[in-house]
Amino acid sequence: MDYSDIQTIEHDVLIVGAGGAGIRAAIACAHQNINTGIISKSLLGKAHTVMAEGGIAASLGNVDSRDNWKIHFRDTMRGGKFLNQWRMAELHAKQSPDRVQELEEWGAVFDRTDKGLINQRNFGGHRYPRLAHVGDRTGLEIIRTLQDFCVHQGISTHMECTALDILLDSGSVSGLLAYWRETGRFVLFKTKAIILATGGGGKAWKVTSNSWEYTGDGLGMAYRSGAELIDMEFTQFHPTGMVWPPSVKGILVTEGVRGDGGVLLNSDGDRFMFNYIPEKFSSETADTEEEGMRWLNGDKEARRPPELLTRDVVARAIKKEVEAGRGSPSGGAFLDIASRRSANFIKRKLPSMYHQFKELAEIDITEKPMEVGPTLHYFMGGIRVDSDTQQTAVPGLFACGECAGGMHGANRLGGNSLSDLLVFGKLAGDGAVNYIDNISKNLICKNEDIVKIIKNATEVLMRDEGNNPYLIHEKLQNIMQNNVGIVRTGEELSVGLEKLNEIKSDIKNVCVNASAQYNPGWNEALDLKNLIITAEAVTRAAILREESRGAHTRLDFEGEHKEGLEYNITIQKTDLGMVAKKITRTKPSEELEKIANASLEELEKI
Ligand SMILES: Cc1cc2nc3c(=O)[nH]c(=O)nc-3n(C[C@H](O)[C@H](O)[C@H](O)COP(=O)(O)OP(=O)(O)OC[C@H]3O[C@@H](n4cnc5c(N)ncnc54)[C@H](O)[C@@H]3O)c2cc1C
Repeated sequence: MDYSDIQTIEHDVLIVGAGGAGIRAAIACAHQNINTGIISKSLLGKAHTVMAEGGIAASLGNVDSRDNWKIHFRDTMRGGKFLNQWRMAELHAKQSPDRVQELEEWGAVFDRTDKGLINQRNFGGHRYPRLAHVGDRTGLEIIRTLQDFCVHQGISTHMECTALDILLDSGSVSGLLAYWRETGRFVLFKTKAIILATGGGGKAWKVTSNSWEYTGDGLGMAYRSGAELIDMEFTQFHPTGMVWPPSVKGILVTEGVRGDGGVLLNSDGDRFMFNYIPEKFSSETADTEEEGMRWLNGDKEARRPPELLTRDVVARAIKKEVEAGRGSPSGGAFLDIASRRSANFIKRKLPSMYHQFKELAEIDITEKPMEVGPTLHYFMGGIRVDSDTQQTAVPGLFACGECAGGMHGANRLGGNSLSDLLVFGKLAGDGAVNYIDNISKNLICKNEDIVKIIKNATEVLMRDEGNNPYLIHEKLQNIMQNNVGIVRTGEELSVGLEKLNEIKSDIKNVCVNASAQYNPGWNEALDLKNLIITAEAVTRAAILREESRGAHTRLDFEGEHKEGLEYNITIQKTDLGMVAKKITRTKPSEELEKIANASLEELEKI
């Protein structure tokens, strides 16, 4: 085969993924008159970003003027248990207000305060009301705005086109091979730089808020091309996913419910979160229901209620209540906003939640509590990048958004993903433009590499018999759910790793025996190649981190260990297979360290 037979498209910069990060990166490139293309596994605008509910975090200070970037930075570092890349957290806190204002200039209509400013709501781990929002449909407004703006910048979008692998010339990016999902035909993108913005890999778990696209494709492609992954042990279990009916288990219930006053109750009707306040957060958390209510009503002297502790803390508390026999009938907890807010308020502030429960569970949340439990939601870990340019270790390969790691450390605060997408999407676009400006040589996509990728992708179509990809995916999800779950032990993780190794040989023998055209079985078989890398990377990193920190809880290594602060874990492809190793963290500047450890009173004065 000669690649001249394959459809070829050329762009200076190619972006993989049309969520918030990918589109923002594309806009940054187009602003500098670069020939920019976006490819997306699904339709433009159909991404995780559109599903985002609660809001986007930025210290605009519209609702509480004491807020500023330093307090946002401090909250983010504390939420991430001090494992975040300091520089990323700094850039994020400083630049997110500008990115939100810019969205407004591009046409996003956020909810307003009485004074006509962008309204901001409370969320877990954020000291002040900080989340700009549009009811509980914030992602829809963000993606609509970005999408409209992107189309008017003349950016080429290639939809329902799945990236398979990156092509390199002497170690630098030279192209990417993809296929059209509709026809199954291959397409070669020749490009000088690639920005991966493919989102997370939640579909490696059985109970997840993630949709079908999130199979860790960017992680797999980056790993295969020689980039490192970082912080993969930190997978966020959001405390409130639907637990009933079984067909919708895992679908997200926004933290906005708690931000707007919802409380968690056990089967005895007790508001149990008061029993789970960690020492570190006790001075900033209300210790009575009355104080929590005063805080919600805007009393600046009161402290926030314990339902708004970070997600890791709340998810573990629900799990403990269930284990103690105080769970709800379907194995979760009750989330009650009905007895706290009027029906009008709930319908206005949480319209999607109202409809979601009405349609899917036949429950009216203005009258009854919801049943909720933890669901795999977000990857703190991802592709390792330079904080300022978002470049990976592979020249010409960039990553941003959920598929990039480092910004959130051991645990992400709600709302910090949407702002991450915009801040680092822009920086990745700027980084890629700067990179291609300095390339003088002509880059080659080697025929033999293209043939190898096509052979790997099509062998499952040639076999007469073999394993069903859907059943293997289910097996993988069960392993991750049972062995690499919300709480972990070394033994369970090692057994999980062994089982994943067995699955690798099952994957080698997958058969879909049909044409590549309109073939979801083939799509599933191809996704497995990335899912297994994602699952193995999480498991190996989780084995290596022998402490409990943020979203990573080891029953055999309780609590945070001091030395755990000194390293991050990276994952790399070697001749011996996948290797996880500890790398020493770089020291922050004196100024950042001081801000992260300052008292709120000191920072509020700034
Ligand atoms: C239900 C829900 C609610 C949420 N609410 C909030 C919230 O209120 N606030 C907040 O900050 N965060 C929230 N999050 C998290 C946040 O929405 C995501 O982390 C974020 O949108 C990820 O954006 P992204 O641009 O990195 O990727 P995504 O928006 O996930 O987009 C990924 C893109 O990559 C494409 N893609 C993937 N693989 C390939 C491939 N092989 N080839 C081509 N294209 C590919 C996909 O088709 C898609 O276009 C929520 C998440 C969920 C699931």
